[in-house]
Amino acid sequence: MVQFQEVYPRVLSLALPLPFELESVNVFLVALDTGYLLIDCGMQTKPAFETLEGAMEQRGIEWRDIRQIVLTHMHPDHMGLAARLVELTGAELAMHQAEAEHLRLVTGGNRRIPWLEEAYLQSGVPAPLETKMEEHFAEIRQNFHDLAPTRLFVGGEKLETALGPLEVIWTSGHSPGHICLYSRERKLLFSGDQILEKITPNIAWHPGRDMLAEFLESLALLDSLDIELIVPSHGGPFSGHRAWIRETIGHHRERCDQMIGLLAQSPRTAHQMVGEMWRRQLSPINHHFAIFEVLAHLEHLKRQGKVHPSADHGAIMWRA
Ligand SMILES: [Zn+2]
Ligand SMILES: [Zn+2]
Repeated sequence: MVQFQEVYPRVLSLALPLPFELESVNVFLVALDTGYLLIDCGMQTKPAFETLEGAMEQRGIEWRDIRQIVLTHMHPDHMGLAARLVELTGAELAMHQAEAEHLRLVTGGNRRIPWLEEAYLQSGVPAPLETKMEEHFAEIRQNFHDLAPTRLFVGGEKLETALGPLEVIWTSGHSPGHICLYSRERKLLFSGDQILEKITPNIAWHPGRDMLAEFLESLALLDSLDIELIVPSHGGPFSGHRAWIRETIGHHRERCDQMIGLLAQSPRTAHQMVGEMWRRQLSPINHHFAIFEVLAHLEHLKRQGKVHPSADHGAIMWRA
C-alpha cells in the first residue's frame, strides 16, 4: 500500500497513481495549527481516490481535518479530484486568479482550450492524428470541473502553517496561473510542475503571449530565492535549483537554435518540426505537448525577429 512519507517535518507527501506515462503525482499535507493544508488533489480516478483514502486512514487523518486546499495549477493530474475533495472536507479552496480564469475558459468551452483546433490547424496536424489526440484527451478532460475557489491569489500572499508562512510565488509558463509555495525561513519550495528533477516542464502556448518568456522570467525569479530543498509534484525532493535553472535555460536556448537551423534549411510547419526534433514515435498525448512546445518556441523567436510565419492553406509555414 502506498503511504504518506514525511518529506520534511510536518509535511506529508503521497504519490497518487496516474493513468499515463508520468506514473504518479505528489499531493502534500502541510500541518496547520489545527488540521492540514492539502496541496493539489490528484487525478479523478478510482485508484487515486482509494490511495488517498487508504493513506489518510492509515495515518488517522479524517477528511474534515483538511481545512484548506491549494491547487498549484489546473492540469488534470493536479485538480481532477478537487471538486470531490472540497465536498468531502468542506475545506476552503484557493488557486491563482489567472489559473481560475483559464479553468473557466476550458470548462466553458466543452472542456477544451478554446484555441486548440486553431492551433492544430495552424500547425498542419494531419486529420487522422488530430482524431487520435482527441480520443486520448476525451477521458482526461473529464477531470476538468467548474470550481468555485473561495480564495484567488495574485502572488505574494502568505499562508500561515505550522512550518511558518508559505509564500505564494506566481510562476507562469507551464500554465498561466501556476504557483509555487515557498518557505523563506526554511528555504523550502513546493515547486509544482515548475521545477521537476528529470523532466523539462512543458510550456503551454497561448495565442498572443510569449509563454516561453514568461516561463524564463519565472525561473529568474526562483533563481533569486534561497532554496535548500525543492519538493516537486512529480518525483522525490532534491536540491540545487540554480543548477537546474541554468540547465533548463540552456535546454531552451538549444531548442531555439535547433529550430532556427531547421528552418534555415527549409520552411516547415510546426507539425513537421515535431517530426524533426523528436526522432521517435510520440504517443498522441506527447505529440500534443510537442506541438504546443514548438509553438511556444516559434512565438518566442518570432518576437525576436528570428523566424517568420507565412500562411499556406490554413497551415503556417515558418522560415528563418
Ligand atoms: Zn502540469
Ligand atoms: Zn503535473
